[in-house]
Amino acid sequence: MIYGRCAACKSQRRRCPSDCIFSPYFPANDPQRFAYVHKIYGGSNVGKMLQQLPEYVRDQAVNTLYLEAQCRIQDPVYGCVGIVSKLYQQIHDAEVELAKIQTQIACLQNQQFEVESNFNVLSTIEAESNLNFLQSQSNSMEQFQWPNHVPNLFN
Ligand SMILES: [Zn+2]
Repeated sequence: MIYGRCAACKSQRRRCPSDCIFSPYFPANDPQRFAYVHKIYGGSNVGKMLQQLPEYVRDQAVNTLYLEAQCRIQDPVYGCVGIVSKLYQQIHDAEVELAKIQTQIACLQNQQFEVESNFNVLSTIEAESNLNFLQSQSNSMEQFQWPNHVPNLFN
């Protein structure tokens, strides 16, 4: 029954048994899935791997093998490691960018503080000089005394 064969059995041109280990993971409508895995790992090796694994992790294992095979075909030198190192590079770039922005924020906050404190210093100096002016005026008024010789007039 050619129509019911899985992608692996179709590719290997053999009969697909009812207990075929490939058929749950390599459906006939997605021949590329088996082609990639077969090209990188070899179909019989994949079959051996699947037999060694408990059934509940086989789906995940096949998905991982397929992803890794895809990466290896697209990037024969680095495969998945190429993607991992690109992602690490992106994380590093983002961290550098974050550090720059945090530094800029700190500098701007510092400048803001300096402007505010300069304003406070200026207004304090202004206020103090006004106060001194007022005090000097009031001092001059306080210092105004009757001449000392006036009481002498009554003596
Ligand atoms: Zn099969």
